[in-house]
Amino acid sequence: MLAPVLEVDTPGFDTRALQALDSAHYLHPFTDHGALRERGARVMVRGDGVYLWDSEGRKLIDGMSGLWCVNVGYGRASMTAAVARQMDTLPFYNSFFNTTNVPAVMLAAQLVQHAPPGFRHVFFTGSGSEANDTIVRMVWRYWQIMGQPQRQAIISRHNAYHGSTVAGASLGGMAGMHAQGALPIPGIHHIGQPSFAEHGRGMSEAEFGLRAAGWLEEKILELGPENVAAFIGEPVQGAGGVIIPPPTYWPEIQRICDKYGVLLVSDEVICGFGRLGTWFGCQLMGARPDLIAFAKGVSSGYVPLGGVLVGARVAHALVEKGGDFNHGFTYSGHPVACAAALENLRIMVDEGLVERVALETGPHLKAAFGSLATHPLVGHAESMGMTAGLNLVRRKAASMHDCEAFPPGLGVGMVCRAHMFDNGVIMRAVGDRMIVAPPLVMTTAQIDEMVERIRFCLDLTLEDVA
Ligand code: PLP
Repeated sequence: MLAPVLEVDTPGFDTRALQALDSAHYLHPFTDHGALRERGARVMVRGDGVYLWDSEGRKLIDGMSGLWCVNVGYGRASMTAAVARQMDTLPFYNSFFNTTNVPAVMLAAQLVQHAPPGFRHVFFTGSGSEANDTIVRMVWRYWQIMGQPQRQAIISRHNAYHGSTVAGASLGGMAGMHAQGALPIPGIHHIGQPSFAEHGRGMSEAEFGLRAAGWLEEKILELGPENVAAFIGEPVQGAGGVIIPPPTYWPEIQRICDKYGVLLVSDEVICGFGRLGTWFGCQLMGARPDLIAFAKGVSSGYVPLGGVLVGARVAHALVEKGGDFNHGFTYSGHPVACAAALENLRIMVDEGLVERVALETGPHLKAAFGSLATHPLVGHAESMGMTAGLNLVRRKAASMHDCEAFPPGLGVGMVCRAHMFDNGVIMRAVGDRMIVAPPLVMTTAQIDEMVERIRFCLDLTLEDVA
């Protein structure tokens, strides 16, 4: 018997054989493998700009930038060249033991140029989860250096996603993750998320923003301010369903953190690098964090990279008073990843991508995606920069709080997502909330194409649930 063809560019490439190998050997992230075996994994083989192709020849417009990361789009030859050049020159060396490398230094120096005022230092990691683990250790070390080692409590939010390592999953507020064993670790506490749709009934958005921030103050007082080390949040909660807080929320969070001396951490793994039309989301939200976690868009996902931008208060303690900080990863400051990120930043600056999101594509997405709110299946739709979300509802109403939701077991979001995929658009379902976060290079014409495909798939979903 002939062996199946598993080289994608070879005629006769055998998708089924690859799927069988996949399900026999490859454990995927966040996947029900029993269900995957039945269905077979979708095999992605190529990307160009904002489009992807699977092994069966299907062309898809990528509404999710891979996984919120391919900000400069697929198939950038200059990224390939930068990576290849660095691999030829120095594929790896570590940054332990008083050693450094050229791309890591250049990248650190460039990142602080784009960061909010006061950020002069960067710690590199391999991912967003490692960035948040690093933050937990840095926060605890900071308060130890400051002579307040009892400040260990870190406050986060329900339904937040901060990664999959033990600390990241603990910081996160995903009930489904906590339920699978011994999480969160002691000392991590959660308050409600600033979701106006979920919790804001009977209030104006502005009132609700203050109310939701007030939950932080209540938690600080419950734990004792002298025990609270930090608060962590994403400017806009991404994986939680693109939860856009009211404009009053972050300034009030900042005021509360200042009042009790609590460190403020902005997780910018999704919101950083232009997603909201600013280099970092906190710059838009009126917050002045002490620490910023980043990953994804820093290298547009071409090579894994993450890190922590360290503000003046923590950097001063670590650098001037702390001595050794006993923490780090083999791949901290990986030269190839940093070379990719340098080229990614060059593209972002030369093509003015952050400004484009602020002035052109972000407003266009707001108008185009917002028009879906008139669809009979959509309760409300909103966006900020290049990310957007809409709620699928059984019955519309004038106020989002009076819409009737589908019973959760019906899985309408998953039905809708399947229609999207079958009709050439990648959109993510968080329950019955459908979300997008397209590459920042998506043009206004491509946004229109994406939204029209979404509208068509909403019609198909409506037929299914009618
Ligand atoms: N923080 C946020 C806000 C994220 O969205 C993610 C990943 O989606 C992470 C942290 C974890 O990043 P990684 O998957 O690179 O570990």
